[in-house]
Order: sequence, then C-alpha cells, then structure tokens
Amino acid sequence: MPDAPTDTDLRRYADLAVHVGVALREGQRLVVRAPLHAAPLVHAVARSAYAAGAPYVDVDWSDETLAQIRFLEAPEGTFEELPYGQAEANLGRAERGDAFLSITGEDPEALKDADPERIATFRAAASKANKPYRAYAMADRIAWSVIAAPSPGWARKVFPDAGEDAPARLWQAIFAATRADRDDPVAAWREHVAELDRRAAFLEDRRFDALHFRGPGTDLRVGLAEQHRWASGGSTTPEGQTFVANMPTEEVFTAPHAERVNGTVRASVPLSQGGHLIEDFELRFEGGVAVAASAAKGQEVLDRLLETDDGARRLGEVALVSADSPIRDGAPLFYNTLFDENAASHVALGQGYRFCVHGGPDASDETVAGWGLNDSLIHVDFMIGSAAMDVDGVHGDPERDDATRTPLMREGRFVI
Ligand code: ZN
Ligand code: ZN
Repeated sequence: MPDAPTDTDLRRYADLAVHVGVALREGQRLVVRAPLHAAPLVHAVARSAYAAGAPYVDVDWSDETLAQIRFLEAPEGTFEELPYGQAEANLGRAERGDAFLSITGEDPEALKDADPERIATFRAAASKANKPYRAYAMADRIAWSVIAAPSPGWARKVFPDAGEDAPARLWQAIFAATRADRDDPVAAWREHVAELDRRAAFLEDRRFDALHFRGPGTDLRVGLAEQHRWASGGSTTPEGQTFVANMPTEEVFTAPHAERVNGTVRASVPLSQGGHLIEDFELRFEGGVAVAASAAKGQEVLDRLLETDDGARRLGEVALVSADSPIRDGAPLFYNTLFDENAASHVALGQGYRFCVHGGPDASDETVAGWGLNDSLIHVDFMIGSAAMDVDGVHGDPERDDATRTPLMREGRFVI
C-alpha cells in the first residue's frame, strides 16, 4: 500500500520545480497558480523559493468546486466575465520578469455536466484577454513551468480501483514520471535534458521538409514550417535563465507548416478538454486544415474546439516522444496532458510557438505567418504515438514518390 507523500517528498518535488523547472534566481519573485487542493505542495514550493532567495511568492488560487458552481448555476450570457484585473496582473508580472509556476491536477471530469458552450465561451474570453501575457511565455521571454498535484477526483479517474489509496498512488506515479524519486533528482534531470538536446540537435541538423507518421489509423504527412527550429525540454530566456517548462518533459518538438499537413490521424490517448473527455477520435487534414473530425465520445466538445477560430483547425506543434519513456513504462493513463503528452508523440491544434522558428521571437506576425507558423487562441495537444508508430523524416514533397525518407522512429522508438 503506497504511503501519502511526506513533507520530505513534497520538498524534493518542490525543489525540482524551483531549481530545475523555473530555475528561480535570487531576488526574483515567483508567481504560483494553484488549485486549493494543492496547498501542501504550494507550502513546500514557498519554502523552497524563499530558501532560494525569492523576495515574494505570489499565489493565485483556483477552486474546482467554485468553477463547477459557476458553469452550472451562473446566468446565461455571463461566460465572458473574467476575474477582475487578472490578465493585467499577469502581464505586469511578466514585464517585471517574475517566474511563473502552474500546478495542475484538477478532476478531468469536473465540468462534465456543464454546457460545453459555456466553457468554450469562457476559455476563448480568458485566452483573448491573456494573449499579451501569453506572448511572453510562448516566446520564452519569461521562465515558466508546470507541475501537478492530484485532486481526489483526478486520482480516482487514474486509479478507479484503488479506493482511498488513489491519491497516494497518483503521487507515487507523479514522482516516478518526474524523476523526483531518484537519489539525485536534479542530476538525473540534467542528464535527461542533455539526451533530449542531442535528439533535437540531430533533427535540427537534417533540415527535414516534413515528417511522415504511419500507424494504426494514421497516415499523416506534416510539413514543417520554413525556418523551423527543433526544441526540447530546456528553454532559455533572453537574460540567460534556463528553465524546463513542463515537468515531466520527454519531447523534442517543432512547428508544422500551417498549410502543409495532409492525411488522416487517429488519437492514441483520450483527450481531456475543459472537464470533458474526447475519446477514440480521428481527424483528416487537407492543405493544413482539419476538414473532417469524428469522435466515439465527446464529438460536440471536439467540434467546438475546432470552431474556436481559423487556426484551431490547423496544427501548431509536432512532437516526437519515445514509447519507452518512464511515463509509458508501466505507468497509468493520466488523463492529464502534462503527463500523457510526454508518454507519446503528439501534435497540437492551434497556436505555434515562436521559439520553434528561427528568428520567430523578434519577427512580425506577418513574417512568421509567411513561414507557416499557425496562429490561434488555442493550443491543444493530442497524442498520436504508440509502440506501433513509425516516423520518417522527409526531404522533398512528402506527397510525391521522389521524396527521400530517413527512418526516425520504428515501433515507437528512436532509431537515430
Ligand atoms: Zn508538446
Ligand atoms: Zn503543446
């Protein structure tokens, strides 16, 4: 029977988040966004941050129950209402150079009884208001990181047969997936990030025109943006602060070309979206656009997601993840993108990252659009990789027979 995390366990995880995740500098304020159920972890993070010299730990709390009450009981037509001043506060904190740590871990089905249109309306309004702030994060101009703390509902979803042991089991799974259970987690992370950097450097060097994914239900050709740049777990701010935006991170990723994606792709893992699950879904792309989408469960949520704006039907990220990462090896399905996206190769609908095109952070919107970088209010990853997936790097037009192909992954594992 697993034990609940001790203060020592939480402190090790908090230290990883502070020293590797946001790599907090002495004198830098830390903004923490956290659900109420994560309070013990937030306390450990605050201790770690103050020990590292933070002048202030600035916490924005969220409450899953309060969100449920709102989406079920607030009057119709009020779902564009936003917390007063929050978007402005985020921008101000980013301009000043604060570091940002987000803690996820809500019940993936917390909002399953709410009208998806209410949630979509709210998310679009929040996303729009936060666009100036998000530009900082997307361009690596601030240090930011995402970690997790289980809510009871999330833990029950992942371990439905574990009864009241579910949260403790999920904590252990999180510590294993994030290497927080190693003897020297910080050293383990440095070694791991170096291996991801090596893969990214190989891909960067080859300058492929496209990637070709083949697996059950999938035959997808993903053209890469002009000036595309392969990135991996470690990112660096203009001031030289090297942070790890997602813990765990197992991916190497880049920007697809918004107009050069063709074929069919089947998701290999359900997608948790706004408190709903989208399961067994498939998209067909033509000229970059998802022209057809079908889901065994969650069709309406998928349709609404695709209707967010023009860019929501196009890809903004393509990522390669080995099928033998510690997250796949015997680990559960987490029903949380932070973990599941690191368990499998994936693509994202919506916004492309400017740091995934060379010169992107400083180029105009028109320039990066001309290179094929997608623009949208959303960025939603979904998993396509599995131990049955083969991936080739393609030079030339992937729709033509005279294109040349380099095997990158076979049966879900890197062969480079
Ligand atoms: Zn990704
Ligand atoms: Zn992504």
